[in-house]
Amino acid sequence: VGSLRPTIPFLARTNAQGEALWLEALRAAMPQIDIVLFKDLSQNQKQNAKFAIVANPDPLDIAALPNLVWIQSLWAGVEELVKDLLDSAIKIVRLVDPELSNTMAQAVLSWVLYLYRQMPAYAHQQTQRIWHQLPLAPASQTQIGILGLGQLGKASALQLRDNGFQVSGWSRTSTQIDGVSTLSGDEGLEALLSQVDILVVLLPLTTQTMGLLDSVRLSQLKTGASLINFARGAIVNTSDLLAKLDQGHVAHAVLDVFETEPLTVGDPLWLHPRITILPHISAPTNKITASQIVANNVSYFFESGEVPVSVDLNSGY
Ligand code: NAP
Repeated sequence: VGSLRPTIPFLARTNAQGEALWLEALRAAMPQIDIVLFKDLSQNQKQNAKFAIVANPDPLDIAALPNLVWIQSLWAGVEELVKDLLDSAIKIVRLVDPELSNTMAQAVLSWVLYLYRQMPAYAHQQTQRIWHQLPLAPASQTQIGILGLGQLGKASALQLRDNGFQVSGWSRTSTQIDGVSTLSGDEGLEALLSQVDILVVLLPLTTQTMGLLDSVRLSQLKTGASLINFARGAIVNTSDLLAKLDQGHVAHAVLDVFETEPLTVGDPLWLHPRITILPHISAPTNKITASQIVANNVSYFFESGEVPVSVDLNSGY
């Protein structure tokens, strides 16, 4: 007997445990809908699917659903989907979850404090049994710059501001945030880089931001500034960064994202004394809140027939 329950395909390339946890969370958020793994879809279901939920999907699976109008990504960063779907009419809706923004803002505050309170230097001093008190500038005289003032960058800027730091931010179009100095454009970037003690990268990876922080841009930082990259590895030119760290121009880098993940065992970044490596953990998706956001987008589409706000394929984010 055919079921009248709507079906949503779920296309994910993840391990079995990740897949099961996602299915559980999505089904709990949408009990009235059948959420079906790609491999379990009937030919009919493939034909009829207007939208799908995806997490790092195989492009061939997307191509096997000929009537897709939109896909809902479970990630905030969608550069791979943008690349795969550039020539198609399928709209990409990315994850916008206030819980994710809070998680990222907390990570930004944590690692800004790690650098501001000179934890890498004290950890090193301990290995040498050195008792030496380093100077501490007040937070109100410490400038933190954030590249990208979107869902994650803005929440992070506010969190830092509320913790007493001087905060400046840079975005593509100009914007205003209370208590944060905002800049845009090429000159804006140069001005921001020359002011900051700690630079935080929260830009999407696009053709415009790929390799943005190269030797020229990193040279525009003050000597002794530090870098936190929580966005995507390819936004920073790794060999240029290594050169700036070795010269002491950049004091320290906290890197959560890399061009190749996982970082290979032989990668020289691992043991660099001026680098802190994190395994892409700054803002993990919360499956429960994310599934609720997806459920809201799905009901919006069912009720209005309109696709929720989607990624602009021209700008790539
Ligand atoms: P978003 O809301 O789309 O915000 C992107 C921001 O970057 C906007 O302020 C945008 O400017 C700015 N921007 C884009 N292109 C630019 C350019 N060429 N020049 C200057 N500014 C530019 O994105 P989001 O949700 O904040 O996420 C940002 C990125 O974080 C994601 O793309 C993802 O790669 C990464 N991420 C990492 C993790 C992790 O765990 N490490 C977790 C989640 C996400 P406008 O305001 O003018 O549009």
